[in-house]
Amino acid sequence: MATRGYPEGHVFYRTLTRALPLATRGEGCWIHGEDGRSWLDAVGGAFVASLGHGNAHVARAIGDQAGTLAYLNGTQFTHAPVEKLSAELARRAPGDLSHCYYLGSGSEAVEAALKLARQYWVESGHSEKTKVLSLAPGYHGNTMLALSASGRPRYQTFFHSWLVSVPRVPAPYPYRCECAGQSAECPVCSGAALERAIVDEGSGTVAAFIAEPVGGSSTGASVPRTEYWRNVREICDRHGVLWIADEVLSGAGRTGTWSALEPYDAVPDILTMGKGITGGYVPLSVVIAPQRIVDVIAGGSGSLLHAQTFSHHPVACAAALATLEEIDRQELLPRVARMGTLLHERLKVLSTHMHVGDVRGRGLLAGIELVANTATRQPFARSEKVAEKFAQAAFDAGLVVWPNTGHANGVDGDLVMLAPPFIVSESEIDEIVRRFQKALSAI
Ligand code: PLP
Repeated sequence: MATRGYPEGHVFYRTLTRALPLATRGEGCWIHGEDGRSWLDAVGGAFVASLGHGNAHVARAIGDQAGTLAYLNGTQFTHAPVEKLSAELARRAPGDLSHCYYLGSGSEAVEAALKLARQYWVESGHSEKTKVLSLAPGYHGNTMLALSASGRPRYQTFFHSWLVSVPRVPAPYPYRCECAGQSAECPVCSGAALERAIVDEGSGTVAAFIAEPVGGSSTGASVPRTEYWRNVREICDRHGVLWIADEVLSGAGRTGTWSALEPYDAVPDILTMGKGITGGYVPLSVVIAPQRIVDVIAGGSGSLLHAQTFSHHPVACAAALATLEEIDRQELLPRVARMGTLLHERLKVLSTHMHVGDVRGRGLLAGIELVANTATRQPFARSEKVAEKFAQAAFDAGLVVWPNTGHANGVDGDLVMLAPPFIVSESEIDEIVRRFQKALSAI
């Protein structure tokens, strides 16, 4: 049987309304199915499989660590993989970010980062700092605090009564901004809107501002103006607000630099990474904080109040270390920058399509915005489900992409995202574009 779906078997599937093919093997940028079909994985599943599928070095490191010492509790022991990985991540992190706390998913890292910010303020005598600000659109995960911080109304649909209030600041999103990202004076694109929101809330009450340095799925690889994050840094300093950079999607090399913030020359107070940090071989995420923040906890209560059984996991840390080794050995960061330039060059051909409003991004991260009218940027009505139909047409053409909706006005908006593995070849990029064009003919 080539596909499986609810209510067959006993899996509570991620999607209950359509059958899924049974995948049996991955190899580089390709996923092979039970029925002999193959798909070109142009988005690493979900911006995750950065090394490609079937990397023997990472698989061996996982097996070796599992055979040596699979689990330790982080309150009882430390171990070589976590020590080595933390030294490596600190060496690569921007500015004074130096101490690494590990979780499993991006949502958990965001929860922990926000709790760290709150605990820092309470333990340094500022318990009045309770509020978190975030960008809209924006995404930080699906657990309750991360979901509260996410400017993505659809995900919140059934859970409003459980969420905390997180005031929103409009995201720098050139394609949907009146200034098209061209004006240094634009309140949204300059960061002035953040300062206004902090002042309106009362800066003494604001604990943290969380944001994605380069837009992820919510704004489809939108790249803020060059001065944006330096302005944010100054605003947060001026008002005593901790800036949390959520690099769960954009980090770990995806945009051609280890941190997507590197080209901005701005250093956040706390940084999160996840997704590609182990190339997807096992789940791992990390919160990286500077000593000046960790010192306050060390000198106060003595630990971050965010105990999780599987944090600092030896096998996951060994997988991340092996991933870093592969990134260095294969010189993948300069390769992402090089192949990213090629990808964006080749994607230009899509712009001539009557429903492609914008093609954008950085490195091997690209967003293609589909609109009803390219002159007015009018989105399709949500009822047309254009992004979903496109993603299905692409899948049928053997191409895995990431569809996204709702960014234009909270309901409408159709985006398609690409984030191929860092090892993608030139001919595979051509194949991605060819299959993309084929799927476009379906809308
Ligand atoms: N933060 C960002 C920027 C993300 O893109 C995501 C997931 O897409 C998350 C957090 C949540 O990560 P996870 O799905 O691993 O919980």
